[in-house]
Amino acid sequence: MQITARCPKCDASLSLDAADAPSAIKCGRCGRDIPLDVTDAVRADRHVDRCPVCGGAELYARKDFNPRIGVTVVVIGALVSATFYWFGRDLIAYGILGAAALIDLVVYGRLKEVTVCYRCHTEFRGAYRRTAPAFDLHTVDVLEKEYERRIGRR
Ligand SMILES: [Zn+2]
Ligand SMILES: [Zn+2]
Repeated sequence: MQITARCPKCDASLSLDAADAPSAIKCGRCGRDIPLDVTDAVRADRHVDRCPVCGGAELYARKDFNPRIGVTVVVIGALVSATFYWFGRDLIAYGILGAAALIDLVVYGRLKEVTVCYRCHTEFRGAYRRTAPAFDLHTVDVLEKEYERRIGRR
């Protein structure tokens, strides 16, 4: 399992392999030491039971989506389509627009799910069994504030 830890101090993303994760990592940007408590289930890529960074068991699943790729497909589609429209080829123009939307849908549907820690935003990618529920706005509100108080952000 691939873990992307988030530095509590400067929000830098720190990638590590859960299988041979050390007991602590050092943030490459701000130098803060981040202790890690990787559970056996995480280490073995079985499922995410507890976050190694903050110890929280509240996690959610979301699509591993890079919004920039989706937007690029739609923008390019719209530009090409506008060109055809300009030359009076509106059928081709609509066809291209539809194709761009379809590509977006297909890409979105094929995305894998990533598990994210509500408190510290650490991400977990791997072949493990997905057990985390979908994102809940109320939960993130409560847990993020609790975590930020704990690490002294506010
Ligand atoms: Zn840092
Ligand atoms: Zn966490």
